[in-house]
Amino acid sequence: MEPDAGNIALFCDLAGTLAAMDESRQLPIDARGNIAIRLLPNVRETLLPIRDHLIFVVTNQAGVKRGRFSLAQVEAAIADLDRQLDGILTGWMICPHDDADRCACRKPKGGMIAELAATHGVDLAGSTMVGDQEIDAMAATAGGVGRFVYAAEFFGWK
Ligand SMILES: [Zn+2]
Repeated sequence: MEPDAGNIALFCDLAGTLAAMDESRQLPIDARGNIAIRLLPNVRETLLPIRDHLIFVVTNQAGVKRGRFSLAQVEAAIADLDRQLDGILTGWMICPHDDADRCACRKPKGGMIAELAATHGVDLAGSTMVGDQEIDAMAATAGGVGRFVYAAEFFGWK
C-alpha cells in the first residue's frame, strides 16, 4: 500500500485486460443477450491491494455503433465488473464509436484518458495504463500517461 498515492491513477483497458473475450475478440454475449464479464486471472488479486489509487476503465466498444449491444448494456457490464472487484473502480469511459466517426475518444486517441484526468485531477505523469493491444499503448502516450504495461506482464500471465 502507498498511503501517499494521491492522484496517481491506473487506467485499464477492458476486454482482454480485465475481462475475458470471446473468439471474435469482443466481450462475450450470454444466452439472454447481455454482456458476460468474466475476470481474467489475477486481476482481482492485483487490483485490490492498490485500491487506494484512482482506478479507471477506458474501453472502445464499437459493438454499440454496430448494433451488437447497447451502450446501456456496456454500462451494466462495467457496473458488474465493478461489483466483482468490490467496487474499486473510480470511474470509466466508453467510446461507442467506430473509426468512421472520427471521434476524439476512440483509442488510440487519448480523449477518454484526458477527460478522466481533467475530471479527477489525475497526476498523469505518475500514472500507469495497462492494456493488451498496441492501441492501448498509443492511447496512453496520446493521453500523457507516464507508463504503459502490457496486461500479461502487469497481471503475471505466463
Ligand atoms: Zn469515440
